[in-house]
Amino acid sequence: MARNLSPKCKLCRRAGEKLFLKGDRCGTPKCAMVRRAYPPGVHGQKKRRRARSEFGEQLAMKQKIKRIYGVLEKQLKKYFKDVKNKPGVTGDLLMQKLEMRLDNVIFRAGFATSRQQARQLVRHSHFTVNGKRMNMPSYEVKVGDVIGVKAGKLKKEYFKNTEEAMAGRQNVLGWLEVDIQQKMIKIKSKPTKDDVGMELDVQMAIEYYSR
Ligand code: SF4
Repeated sequence: MARNLSPKCKLCRRAGEKLFLKGDRCGTPKCAMVRRAYPPGVHGQKKRRRARSEFGEQLAMKQKIKRIYGVLEKQLKKYFKDVKNKPGVTGDLLMQKLEMRLDNVIFRAGFATSRQQARQLVRHSHFTVNGKRMNMPSYEVKVGDVIGVKAGKLKKEYFKNTEEAMAGRQNVLGWLEVDIQQKMIKIKSKPTKDDVGMELDVQMAIEYYSR
């Protein structure tokens, strides 16, 4: 399954903002946006960021969405094609598609520190969906699905750390029911814009693809 293999911090520096792609490291002084907050490349330090046109803004938002969720152009375009003729606000439907990816759900529930880590855990078959092994990070969960951890697979220490990490994150999970003792996630409802909790204007990506 294809994925973006570029260095993650380079993606943030190109975007000109923190995208929080590396879990715990993003909140430390080691973050590349703290140490080198200019575009990557030999001339990065000399380059000035110019004001963007409307098209530039839409393109930048589309790129940001791809980088945050770790999807490639082809996949994002496919999601757009899937939702564009469905009833409802296309931006909200696209956001739901991205949020309901299995790797994102694992990350949102606090079982991984980044989507990248969640993706790797899923690829290594650590999780089940409704009791069946699932190793596709892009798998789209449905309301009512129950995600579990494959017995004996993930170490106890891993979940000890996870419990600590979960402490301050309970109120982000309006659409998920997380039982850290049972190592189980239940999808209660579809996510809403408020659940995303970051500044993403998915509608701008829709406008980009609708040109
Ligand atoms: Fe981005 Fe995190 Fe790297 Fe900082 S540490 S540049 S936020 S990926």
